[in-house]
Amino acid sequence: MALKIAIQKSGRLYDDSVKLLKECGIEFNNSLNRLRTEASNFPMEILFLRDDDIPQYVADKVADIGIVGENVLLEKQKDVKIFEHLGFGKCRLSIALPKGVKYKGIQSLDGMRIATSYNNILTGFLKKNKIKAEIHEISGSVEIAPGIGLADAICDLVSSGSTLFTNGLKEVETVMKSEALLIGNHKLSKQEQVVVNKLIFRIQAVKKASKNKYILLNAPNKNLDKIVSLIPGMKSPTILPLAEKGWSSVHSVVLEDEFWEVIEKIKDAGAQGILVIPIEKMVL
Ligand code: ATP
Ligand code: ZN
Repeated sequence: MALKIAIQKSGRLYDDSVKLLKECGIEFNNSLNRLRTEASNFPMEILFLRDDDIPQYVADKVADIGIVGENVLLEKQKDVKIFEHLGFGKCRLSIALPKGVKYKGIQSLDGMRIATSYNNILTGFLKKNKIKAEIHEISGSVEIAPGIGLADAICDLVSSGSTLFTNGLKEVETVMKSEALLIGNHKLSKQEQVVVNKLIFRIQAVKKASKNKYILLNAPNKNLDKIVSLIPGMKSPTILPLAEKGWSSVHSVVLEDEFWEVIEKIKDAGAQGILVIPIEKMVL
């Protein structure tokens, strides 16, 4: 039995989806123009699809699981299970107006024509905020709609905002934040669920590892307690004596976010030869 996973065929989620599966130790041939491929060392078949089709395929169990943006899942309104937030494909769905138009809060959208490919999400957002606006559903290049007189505003995905900027638009409201999700069909067999659990276990190990760094340093024994207390390690750090008398080698794991602060403090406490090494997998 091979578990079928649907991932984007090409586009913004493709590279990170393939990278994640490979980091999970799953080997497969992803040469261009393939529609499906079998993993060589894991019971998995990979289907390459348009992202818009993934929620439907998973809901219908053409694929058992899939990787898709939260934005697409919410728009398609398909009933599937959410297994994991994957931490990539981060963006937001926002409303933007031409730079010159005054914006005095959400009421300013009343009566406007808003172009979007996210009809369902936008409808819900406008309703929640009691705004009466006209939605123009278009499928691509939404950002040019105001410039050609098709709409007064747009509702589209933004990450850096540079596309908005080059089209003379400014972001005024965030409708939702999004990232890639691992989704699955509600009715997986026991056997399929076992494979999914294996995959989730590996994904969590990869995600955890990417947030942590392995740190190695040399510490003078007289300051050892102080240095160790500064390192928020997994449990307690490993301490080994160095050949040089009065010195020890300290090994531990620190969170990437805390790492600059930690490094500065331990350096001030006399630590030397600090090495920071990426971690590939982490299982606690
Ligand atoms: P497809 O051909 O598969 O339909 P697409 O053109 O609809 O592709 P992409 O532009 O590749 O989709 O985006 C795929 C997903 O990547 C989006 O649905 C969203 O979840 C995520 N994403 C992350 N950053 C951005 C961004 N700046 N703009 C658009 N999508 C983004
Ligand atoms: Zn799409």
